[in-house]
Amino acid sequence: MKKVWPVPQWQSQFSYKQHPRSFGSKRSQGRTHAGCDLYAPLGSEVLAISAGRVVSAGKFYMGTFEVSIDHGALGVVRYGEIAVAPGLDLKSNVEAGQVIGYVASLGRGIPPMLHIEQFKGSKVGPLTDRSNPPYLRRADLMDITPLLDEMVCTHLGGLCKAVAA
Ligand SMILES: [Zn+2]
Repeated sequence: MKKVWPVPQWQSQFSYKQHPRSFGSKRSQGRTHAGCDLYAPLGSEVLAISAGRVVSAGKFYMGTFEVSIDHGALGVVRYGEIAVAPGLDLKSNVEAGQVIGYVASLGRGIPPMLHIEQFKGSKVGPLTDRSNPPYLRRADLMDITPLLDEMVCTHLGGLCKAVAA
């Protein structure tokens, strides 16, 4: 299956495996980071990592939006802290590499980023579940780090080992 790195303009010096960007990073009030953060300039294109179908789209965090796509064998990937691309609706089919949104601003001097999460797809219901600490996510949440590791090598070629450390 063809896979596409989701943010071509990703600033690779900011590893998605290091705090505060990494999966499992501690947040305030006992909350734990449910995805990985890919820093990129404001307005950077966000691409679908593979073909799929939009299963949710809407408000996300601090004035930003999210799109969630069922990628079949890869599960459901949630692309957060973005502005949704015009014309993308619930149940839209997307191609690998299709522009689905743009990196948005969280304000308060926080670096612009794509916040990306992965779910196995074995549960139903909203992906955010405030009754399920510490991630506050649906019970089939996965650590997306291995999937990013797999894709970053294609994106960066020979540099991937250093970046993915
Ligand atoms: Zn995040």
